[in-house]
Formats: sequence, C-alpha cells, structure tokens
Amino acid sequence: MEFKLNETQESIRDLAREFAEKVLKPRIDDIEEVGHFPTDVYQQMADTGLLGIAFDEKYGGIGAGYDSFVLAFEELSKVSPSAATALLITLLPLEAINLFGSEDQKQAYIGPSIEGKLRGSMAFTEPSTGSDPKQLTTTARLEGDTWVISGVKRFISNAAYDGPMLLYAKEAETGKCTAFLFDKPIEGYSTSTPWEKIGLLGSPCYDVFLDEVRVPNDDFHILGKRGDGFTILKATTAYGKLGFSAVFLGAFGGAVNAAKDYVTTKVHRDSTITKFQAIQTKFATMLSKYESCRYMVYNCAETANDHSRLEEMLGQSALVKAYVGDTAVEGCVLAMNLMGSYGVMKEYQTERFLRDALIGPHVEGQTDVQRVIAAGYYLNH
Ligand SMILES: Cc1cc2nc3c(=O)[nH]c(=O)nc-3n(C[C@H](O)[C@H](O)[C@H](O)COP(=O)(O)OP(=O)(O)OC[C@H]3O[C@@H](n4cnc5c(N)ncnc54)[C@H](O)[C@@H]3O)c2cc1C
Repeated sequence: MEFKLNETQESIRDLAREFAEKVLKPRIDDIEEVGHFPTDVYQQMADTGLLGIAFDEKYGGIGAGYDSFVLAFEELSKVSPSAATALLITLLPLEAINLFGSEDQKQAYIGPSIEGKLRGSMAFTEPSTGSDPKQLTTTARLEGDTWVISGVKRFISNAAYDGPMLLYAKEAETGKCTAFLFDKPIEGYSTSTPWEKIGLLGSPCYDVFLDEVRVPNDDFHILGKRGDGFTILKATTAYGKLGFSAVFLGAFGGAVNAAKDYVTTKVHRDSTITKFQAIQTKFATMLSKYESCRYMVYNCAETANDHSRLEEMLGQSALVKAYVGDTAVEGCVLAMNLMGSYGVMKEYQTERFLRDALIGPHVEGQTDVQRVIAAGYYLNH
C-alpha cells in the first residue's frame, strides 16, 4: 500500500492543476455556454496530453495509467467539471476500442481522438431505458453486406461532433446486442438540439435519430464479436464510472476550496469565522467525506490499471460511482452552508459545483442500479 505519489503522478497532477488555473478558470463563462464548448480550449486540453494519460504510447498516449488519469481529472474538475466531462466523453468509446478493438480500429480512432481531431460518442440510452440493456429497441437489420440501423438514442453526449460513434443495437433476427462502430455524421443520422440540463453545461447531450443508417457488415464496423454488446458495454462503463467519479470528486473539491477560502477570510468581530465551533465541525465533516471519496477513487484507479482484474473493476467502479455521486452532492451542500448566502451566489462558484454534482447520481448509470451491481459482486467475493 503506497499513499505517496510518484514523480509521474505528481507531475501530471501539477500539469492539470496549472492548466485548470491558467487556462480553464478565465474561460469558465465561455465553457458554460450551452452546446458551444470553445474549440480553442478543447484543442489546448488535447495538446497538453490530457486525453492520452492512460493510453499506450503506441497509440499516441502517455501510458501513465489510471492513477495519474484520476489525479488529472480531479484537478481539472476542481475548476471546471464541464471541461473534464468534455474530455471524458471523448474517452468513453476509446476505452471500449482499447479493450476490445482490433489493431485497425485502434489505429483509426485512438491517436486522432487524443490529438483532439475527433470527438467520439457512446450511445446506449434510449427513451424507454437507460438501465436495462434487455429493453433496447434500436435495431440492426442485415441486408446483404450492409447493416441497416434504425431507432432513437437519448441523452447522447458529443453526438453533434465529428468522431467515432459506438452504438449498441439489437440484431433484428437474433435479438442479440452488438456494438457497432462508425463515423458520425453519416447519412440517416441526425441529432436534436442539446437538452437543457441543470449542470455540466459545457458538455452537451442530444437525442440521436437513426433513420436507416447503413454500415458495412465487416470487422471494422463491429467492435468485438457480434452479440458481445452487453459484455463490451459493462466493461467500458466500468471505466466511465471511474472517470465520472474523478469528475464529481473534483466538483466536490472545488466546493471545498471555495468554502475554505470563504471561512478563512470572512471576518466576524475582528477575527475570521473559523473561530466558531459550528464552522469547524461542519468543515471537518465535509473534509472527511471528501477524503473518503478520494481514497475510493484512487483505489479503484489501481484496479483499473490491471486489465486482468476486470471483474473486480465492474463491482468496484459501481460501488465508487454510487458513493462518490451521492457524497459529492452532500459535500457541495455542506460547502454552500459554510458560506452563508454567498454560497448560493454564482460569483462564488459553489452553486455551479453543486449543479454539476447533481448529475453524478444519474450519468453513467443510476445510483440505485450501481448499488445492485456492487452488491452482486461483493456478496459473491
Ligand atoms: C449529462 C448526461 C449525459 C449522458 N450521456 C450519455 C451518453 O453519452 N450515452 C448514453 O448512452 N447515455 C448517456 N446518458 C444517459 C444516462 O447514462 C442514463 O440516463 C442513466 O443510465 C439512467 O437511465 P434512465 O435515465 O433511463 O433511468 P431508468 O433506467 O429509467 O431508471 C429510472 C429510475 O429507476 C431506477 N431503476 C431502474 N432499474 C432499476 C433496477 N434494476 N434496480 C433498482 N432501481 C432501478 C433507477 O435507479 C432510477 O431511479 C447521459 C445522461 C446525462 C444526465
């Protein structure tokens, strides 16, 4: 057990921290503008290497592992959870390609995405379900050498950007779920306007309409094997859950920092309000919640580094995402309460961190469902 950061972890954390302070902080208002994440900021994030932290050098990554990845995403999110989410969404289909893809698929998508040229999406959720893969209604019908895909996908992040689309659909004949991979946009593919949501405003999500989208029936356009969709989905979302846990941990951290700045500078009768025991106990309660989230996320990142521990990763990432998702919301509320009325004012940032954190219990799998998945693993191991 090693709680001290090594040189690589420290330098990646510091790089992300400096980037967040120098580049993201002055651009928060631009980033929060719905549906228009500033292209220059996104490109700067890519140029800094933030998309390639956990990927192999062979594909243009840094190969520094998921421990460095979570440290960086925590730091970015302490300033802008939206910016970190914009990066994370691009990584979701790449994680799947990295775990299950052929060499051709990896070469085609990982490098260009890390460089910021492509912004991929992963499309599972539909109007009728986000938790139950068996209820998928998007269908892929085989016509000669071509798959014809029709249906509607809901809340799909990055859907309006060019890049790889990893889409889960049921094969019409067998009912099996297959993971299809193609470039968006494509004929028959269209998107709604971005959904208006409470937080993570810089990371837009859309409905996707698939009207007889035609995809060649070859190895390149299917990830893994036909019928392996659920397996791929489970494994990939485990990595997504870790990434989102780092984002909501960071949102919580941003609120902790804002509250600390406030209580250590707010003066009451000649000295700061830190003299009040009510402030001290609330602060310590908030901090203990933050620290427990941090260690859970860091511990899960170690599991993620070892692909042979994938089964454990499925249970652990669900447990961590459920805990961090809920606890970050509680923590942001505590931070807000420490700041009195300033806490609810936009200028003091805590209200933005809370709005972002409120998405945590829902995105990449609902909290209740995560607890069921986690219990399923830990009751048997
Ligand atoms: C900002 C944002 C971005 C998103 N981006 C994407 C994306 O890029 N791609 C994508 O595919 N999806 C995306 N989603 C969708 C998200 O992953 C789903 O909304 C989520 O998985 C939950 O699905 P649902 O909303 O359909 O809820 P449902 O599945 O309808 O669940 C509704 C309620 O029922 C409960 N419930 C359901 N089943 C069970 C069960 N078996 N046991 C206990 N309780 C249960 C749930 O806990 C929940 O409280 C995004 C969502 C958000 C908010």
